[in-house]
Amino acid sequence: MELINGKELSQELRADLKKRVENFTEKTGLGVCLAVVLVGEDPASQVYVRNKIKACEQAGIKSLETRLAATTSEAELLQVVEGLNVDPQVNGILVQLPLPKGLNEDKITDAISPLKDADGLVTENLGLLVAGRTRVAACTPSGVIELLKKHKIPIQGANAVVVGRSQIVGKPMALLLLEQNATVTICHSRTKDLRKHLHEADIVVVAAGQPEFLGADDFKEGTVIIDVGMHRRADGKLCGDVRFDELKNKAKAMTPVPGGVGPMTIAMLLENTLKLAELQASGGHHE
Ligand code: NDP
Repeated sequence: MELINGKELSQELRADLKKRVENFTEKTGLGVCLAVVLVGEDPASQVYVRNKIKACEQAGIKSLETRLAATTSEAELLQVVEGLNVDPQVNGILVQLPLPKGLNEDKITDAISPLKDADGLVTENLGLLVAGRTRVAACTPSGVIELLKKHKIPIQGANAVVVGRSQIVGKPMALLLLEQNATVTICHSRTKDLRKHLHEADIVVVAAGQPEFLGADDFKEGTVIIDVGMHRRADGKLCGDVRFDELKNKAKAMTPVPGGVGPMTIAMLLENTLKLAELQASGGHHE
């Protein structure tokens, strides 16, 4: 089994990105800046935000952090986002999800200017993805495509199954695979015979959020398995949606958890931020 190492690729991409940020600044005289908004005290979100800010620093991307109390009202948060939308030094905006109860995530996300949408989650950008005119796409699925390409996994014509249909992972993942000419099946909690679909797949991306729920019997020999799931087990270890040990002699190639998809998400966030900076510097038009 070929191990699909996201940690290694993300380091390569981030080193390359640092050079591209320097080139951009040399060419335009402008910096690159990502604004990160964190509302509330969710411990996992605090870790994610810290890691994102650290990654920005390493790539030479300036980060602008706004921390708001969990009691922040929707109107106040919308005002913060609006301020960042019109701030000329800000190229990308990220509002860390999940938001505290009472704040409408769809409304807040859609308040971000589509040209500053570092997470690729604004409805206009999802629409462009559907239309085949991708501007920026969600970071985790974009990272999966990079992993498949790096490992020279043939996507064109492949039967690809995506397990999960969330706005953040499953749906954009299916669209990005379609863009690469895969034949895509989307499975979800109401799918009648998940195993039947999995057995027909050349590539499976699992993003169901169910700890280790798939094992050896669920896949045919030689499948490429990308495990997006991320969970902490009772013994303190991290695991994915798939039982890695059962599949390591059956899969053709597979991502580990941790060290697979996770590190790619941050690399793609930086990539999106630079892409948006380039787009803004060129007047907001598509290349
Ligand atoms: P959601 O909970 O939003 O979506 C889960 C999806 O899986 C839903 O569409 C659901 O179907 C489907 N599903 C749930 N159970 C089953 C099942 N038994 N069989 C088939 N489909 C099922 O999760 P996210 O998409 O946000 O995240 C998925 C996983 O990826 C999580 O473990 C999360 O922690 C991880 N993640 C990891 C990231 C990383 O960087 N590594 C980034 C983002 C997420 P239905 O729509 O019918 O309810």
